[in-house]
Amino acid sequence: MPIATVNPATEETLKTFDPLDAEQLEHRLAAADAAFRQYRDTSYDHRTDRLRAAAGLLDQERDEVAHTMTLEMGKPLRAAQAEVAKCVKCLRWYAEHGPDLLADEFPAADDVTDSGAVRARVRYLPLGPVLAVMPWNFPLWQVIRFAAPALLAGNVGLLKHASNVPQTALYVEDLFRRADFADGCFQTLLIGSGSVENVLRDPRVRAATLTGSEPAGRAVASVAGDTIKKTVLELGGSDPYLVLPSADLERAARVAVTARVQNNGQSCIAAKRFLVHTDVYEEFAERFVRGMRELTVGDPMDADTDVGPLVSEGGRQDLADLVEDARTRGASVLCGGGRPANRPTGWFYEPTVLTDLTPEMRIHQEEAFGPVASLYRVADLTEALRLANDTPFGLSSNVWTQDEEEQERCAHELEAGAVYFNGMTASHPGLPFGGVKRSGYGRELAGHGPREFCNVKTLWYG
Ligand code: NAP
Repeated sequence: MPIATVNPATEETLKTFDPLDAEQLEHRLAAADAAFRQYRDTSYDHRTDRLRAAAGLLDQERDEVAHTMTLEMGKPLRAAQAEVAKCVKCLRWYAEHGPDLLADEFPAADDVTDSGAVRARVRYLPLGPVLAVMPWNFPLWQVIRFAAPALLAGNVGLLKHASNVPQTALYVEDLFRRADFADGCFQTLLIGSGSVENVLRDPRVRAATLTGSEPAGRAVASVAGDTIKKTVLELGGSDPYLVLPSADLERAARVAVTARVQNNGQSCIAAKRFLVHTDVYEEFAERFVRGMRELTVGDPMDADTDVGPLVSEGGRQDLADLVEDARTRGASVLCGGGRPANRPTGWFYEPTVLTDLTPEMRIHQEEAFGPVASLYRVADLTEALRLANDTPFGLSSNVWTQDEEEQERCAHELEAGAVYFNGMTASHPGLPFGGVKRSGYGRELAGHGPREFCNVKTLWYG
């Protein structure tokens, strides 16, 4: 895959980049190693001052960065602006709360005595250069969500970003440099996915995090397993959205539309499968389909656009193939189901709702990475939970009910990294984020994120 900016709304190649050659790559790995030896000894005050500086710069440059993201991957401009604001918040959040999250911990006095110590403590120390392999769909957020906690902990970052967002990738490196992080603390490696293995095998690289598809996660985790390096994997999702009789149906249907089409439908935590109790199915379906039909599909730079293009021709074709497979096996298309007639250029796809779905259809098990919703009618909560868990994924989930017993049952039984009640999944720096099953492992954000890439060192004093 060439390293290039290609505008998904016009299909034009705007800029191409040469990948790093072997000598340039070696220079960067050496710089990361050298930077870590200095940076690991810096104080939390030093690090948090720089995180705040990065937040300030990013805040000032919001519109320019948002424009670059929209140009490179097609999300609506106002969504790109919101993404920048969220990154600013995350940098500030770690500057504010980070040092407390990584403060020394003191085991219980009984355990200290029982271990034969006079005193003992646990300290969180950084591991070294961490390789971050990142996707294009939230090209700034995915990177900052890794970088802020990693830099706070004293690690240094090597970013291998998706090949179609090179300008955003270079911007992040420049941002941290201008925020006065020393050279080598955060570097972008313009390399193709074929070079990831060599970088990860390099002994100077101590760990890796990957956000992306299952095949990419498997490839990186295999190499990391072979070299005994810690990994965090944030992979795909096919999140369920349960609507039960006590739900506020007007809100549940309105939020369902946003939850499905956010980021042009290309979000790991988008709700993708809508499991609706038979008692409220007709009303929910009518409201939801109407909401999907009313969306404005168009130029992502326009302020009134709700849904822009998909990221690539391949991405659109994959989605169209999933819909075709379902249709030929008997699914009904309640709205959409093809390319918008008025958009001959650009990788657009209509907001689509499918129903009459059966387990042998591919979409029942695979992730639909675009604005296509699967709508199911369920007889009761037991059936809803069975269908919700009938997927290889386990990222997040959404449940609409006012009934506390139903909420408790869902909290216990849903096989997912999170359950959002009466609202849609949205990450926040203060809440841990991650999945189970084939959505990956490990957690980002909150205190869990920075601790993933720490040496949890036990200090025992006799
Ligand atoms: P992708 O094709 O897996 O790409 C993600 C990153 O992995 C890119 O940097 C890519 O580089 C690299 N890569 C691809 N194959 C690789 C390999 N064999 N070895 C090493 N690196 C490899 O995924 P995507 O299409 O960009 O993103 C969509 C997927 O990401 C969806 O499944 C989505 O659900 C998931 N996602 C998950 C989360 C989460 O937090 N759980 C968040 C966002 C997205 P190139 O671009 O150079 O190929």
